[in-house]
Amino acid sequence: MADLTDYTAVKLLSLLQAGELTSTELTKAYLDRIEACDQKIGSFLRTDPEESLKHAAAMDRRRNAGESPGPLAGLPIALKDNLCTRGQTTTCGSRMLENFKPPYDATVVEKLREAGAIPLGKTNLDEFAMGGSTESSALGETCNPWNTTCIPGGSSGGAATCIASGMSPLSIGSDTGGSIRQPAAFCGVVGLKPTYGRVSRMGLVAFASSLDQIGPLARTAEDAALLLEVIAGHDARDSTSLDQSVPRYRSVLQQPLKGLKLGVVEEHFGEGLDAEVESAVRESIRVYQELGAKITSVSLPHSEYAIATYYVIAPCEASSNLARYDGVHYGYRTDENILHATLKQQRSGLSATDDEQALNNLDSPLVRLYRQTRAEGFGAEVKRRIMLGTYALSAGYYEAYYLKALKVRRLIRQDYDEAFREVDLVIGPVTPTPAFPRGSKIDDPLAMYLGDLYTVSANLAGVPAISIPCGFSNAGLPIGLQLQGPPLSEDRLLQAAHWFQKETAWHQRRPALN
Ligand code: GLN
Repeated sequence: MADLTDYTAVKLLSLLQAGELTSTELTKAYLDRIEACDQKIGSFLRTDPEESLKHAAAMDRRRNAGESPGPLAGLPIALKDNLCTRGQTTTCGSRMLENFKPPYDATVVEKLREAGAIPLGKTNLDEFAMGGSTESSALGETCNPWNTTCIPGGSSGGAATCIASGMSPLSIGSDTGGSIRQPAAFCGVVGLKPTYGRVSRMGLVAFASSLDQIGPLARTAEDAALLLEVIAGHDARDSTSLDQSVPRYRSVLQQPLKGLKLGVVEEHFGEGLDAEVESAVRESIRVYQELGAKITSVSLPHSEYAIATYYVIAPCEASSNLARYDGVHYGYRTDENILHATLKQQRSGLSATDDEQALNNLDSPLVRLYRQTRAEGFGAEVKRRIMLGTYALSAGYYEAYYLKALKVRRLIRQDYDEAFREVDLVIGPVTPTPAFPRGSKIDDPLAMYLGDLYTVSANLAGVPAISIPCGFSNAGLPIGLQLQGPPLSEDRLLQAAHWFQKETAWHQRRPALN
C-alpha cells in the first residue's frame, strides 16, 4: 500500500469500512508521521499516542463485532487547542491556560467522538486565536511546511500545517476573521468557515462571540464536507446555533455546476494585491468559466471599511470575554502570596464597601493579584486587543467607535445581500500575498491586520466562506482562492470547490519535508 498519510479522508474511510485497513494501523501511521515531521513543523502542542491508540483499538473491536460505529469511525483528527477537551489540557496557546483542564468537552468534540473519530492531539494557534501567523502562541513555534522560514498563517496554524504535511487527514479550526481560511491558503489545504451559528461553539474558548465560528480543514472539499456534516447542527447549549437541518453535504457535491452564477468581487482586486496571487485567482475564474459557470462582476462597496470595523468589534468583544481570566477562578495565577494577603484582609472582616475600596485602590492585594496575573499570563498581542477594546468601549468613545462599527457592519452585510441577489457565490483571493517570512510582521501589528483584508467581511456579515488551493508563487508557496456565499450555502460552496478540485491538481502537491 502507498503511504497512508497521503490519502484523503474519504479514501481512508472506504478502506476502513471495507476492512482493508484497521484504525490501529492508520492511527499508527499518522503517529509515526508526527514523530518524523512535527519537530520540524510544530503543528501539535500535545499528542497522546497511547490514548489515540486506545480509541483506535476500541473502534476496531466495535467494527469487528459487526457494529457500524459512526460516520468517521476510525479516522484520526486533530483539534485546535481552543476547543475544550474534558480532563485534557486546553491552552489556547496562552500561559494563562497552560495547565487548564476543562471539566467538559466542546459540543464539536462530543460529536466527533460519537462519530467515531480518533483524537490525535491538540494543535498550536495564535494566543487566544488572536493573530494571523501563529507567532503569538506562547507555547510553541509553527512553521510553514512549504518553507519552514515562513509563517504557516493563523490563528489555526497548527490545524492547517498538520493537514499540509500529512500528519492528520482532518482537523478542526476556528475562524473569527479568517483564522481557518488564511492558514489554509498559506499551507495549500481546504478550509471552510461555516455560516455564523451553523456549528455549535459551546466549549470553544471565546474570542469575539459575534464572529467566532468553528469549521473543518482538510485536503479536499469532499473531506471537508464529510467533516462538516458531523459537526454542524443545532445545540441547545449554544443559543446562537441555528435550528436548521444539516444537508447531506457529500451527496450535493456531485451535482454539476452548470449555470452557477459567480460574482468577481471588484474591490478584492485593488491596491495591495500581489501580482502572483492575482494571476492565480484570475486563472481560477477561467477554470470556473470552463466548468460552465456564468461570471459577472459584483461590488461590495463597504469592503474598504471591513478591517477598521473588525478591529474595533473583535477587540471590544475580546476585552469583555477575557475579563474572566483574573487569577481567581481558574487558569494562571501569579505568586500565591498576594492572594493570601487578600484572603487575610477579607477574613479580618472587611465589608462590601471596603471591597469596593480595595478594587479602587490600585495597591490593594486584590488588584495587585489581578494586575500581576494578567500582566504575566497574557502576551503582547492579547494585551493590545484588551486595551483597544477597553478603550473603544469606554464612556465617550463607545458611540464614536463601537456603535459606529456596528452600523458599518450592517452596511457590509447589506452589500452581501445585494450581491447575492445577482449571483450565487462571490469569488476572489483569500489573502493579499502568499505566506511571509517568520518575524517579518510580528512587531508591526497594522501590517499583520491588513493581511485580513479579504477574510474579515464574511465574519462581520456571518456568511460562509471557503478557501481552496489555486496555485503556487514562484517561490513555491501555495495560493488560496476564496468563495463566499449567502447564509447556509455551505453545500453550494463545497460543490463549487469540489468541481474546481476535479479540474485542477493544486491540492495534490505535497511539500518536501524529508
Ligand atoms: N487574524 C485575525 C485576527 O487577528 C483573525 C483571527 C481569527 O480568525 N481567529 O483577529
